[in-house]
Amino acid sequence: MRCEILAVGTEILLGDIVNTNAQYIAKRLSDIGIFVYHQSVVGDNPERLREAYALAFSRADLVITTGGLGPTKDDLTKETAFNYFGKTSVLHEESFKHIEDIFKRSNRTVSESNKKQAFFPSDAIVLKNNNGTAPGCIIEEGKKILVMLPGPPREMKPMFEESVIPYLKEFSKDILVSKVLRVIGIGESAAADMLGALLDNENPTVAPYAKEGEVTFRITAKAENEEEARALIRPIEERIREILGDNVYGEGNTSLEEVLGDLLLENKLTIATAESCTGGMVAARLINYGGISAAFLEGAVTYSNDAKVSRLGVKEETLESFGAVSHEVAEEMAIGICRTSGAHIGLATTGIAGPGGGTKEKPVGLVYIGICYKGQVITRELNLTGHRQKIRERATITILDMLRRELLNSK
Ligand code: ATP
Repeated sequence: MRCEILAVGTEILLGDIVNTNAQYIAKRLSDIGIFVYHQSVVGDNPERLREAYALAFSRADLVITTGGLGPTKDDLTKETAFNYFGKTSVLHEESFKHIEDIFKRSNRTVSESNKKQAFFPSDAIVLKNNNGTAPGCIIEEGKKILVMLPGPPREMKPMFEESVIPYLKEFSKDILVSKVLRVIGIGESAAADMLGALLDNENPTVAPYAKEGEVTFRITAKAENEEEARALIRPIEERIREILGDNVYGEGNTSLEEVLGDLLLENKLTIATAESCTGGMVAARLINYGGISAAFLEGAVTYSNDAKVSRLGVKEETLESFGAVSHEVAEEMAIGICRTSGAHIGLATTGIAGPGGGTKEKPVGLVYIGICYKGQVITRELNLTGHRQKIRERATITILDMLRRELLNSK
């Protein structure tokens, strides 16, 4: 069954509100195996609304509208649809009674325009609105189905869940099940190249999505039940994990700090941070993990050279010879925070986040990160691009990922 979601409302076209209804409905339809082929938005204008219906029904079997069911003049979704299908409407007694009851509760009488909300073609399936006055409805015309829902999400969602999902489930034999793998330390196109033909697989499908410093791969299987769908996902997941190895750091909604927090706690390791350009971001990410108090000892933001010397014991000669942004200083910072905090692991960052401060030799985006662990120090030079915030975020993610890999390798 091909579906189109049609949001009605000039407010959406003007950018005054975001079309979250379409997002919600699309997600829920995919859960029950109904594919949304188009989403569209139309203002409160009868001619354009009629055109939108004609276009939607020319390419979809199921059209779901939201909005425009209210009592005011510009609420035209229903009238235009009835007109489009050549249907006349009559008063739906039960809906009218519901509206009257709501009005009685606040000592008001139902106006003619409110009464309009209770008019439907006699063969329509009327959907009760338990959270407002405007009922929704379903119209079946030949092989085409039109579902009309109210605009306010607090009315639309319960009506969709209580009435529309059970109605639509009858039409869809299959369900869709997805699994998300989270990948870090490798770009979207490099990961996609490695996966090659797996990305063209049809059932399950594998879809990449790049976001803040990482890539996710959503594996989606279509089957008659969840067990069968999971069985289709399993071999593809195994293959992806085999190809991408340690680059896969988690699944579902797991975050990098959760993975790292678990590793620190499992291995009974303590950690402390010494940050310059990231200014506390590394510590903040670690502290996102509930329960990190068993591992995180302290975080020092040592921004100035003096602080690096007095707080961490970085040598003045090192700063003079190599500059604050160097392998050598990152190394001494990591050793320094380990020594002064007594932690098993010390993390250090020092770099030029911009926009100023860059030189030809040391441009904006040059960052050194250091990890001191088991008496050994490893440092890495990063050449990052983007604005200040992005450079700082990338440096933060990279050092956390570098530590994750260290801990996995030393297991
Ligand atoms: P009402 O009885 O409140 O008039 P309605 O069905 O006529 O309901 P609209 O008038 O189109 O709905 O929209 C009412 C409110 O619902 C909007 O101001 C907005 O806050 C919300 N809304 C409408 N459409 C959407 C949408 N597509 N996504 C998110 N919110 C929406």
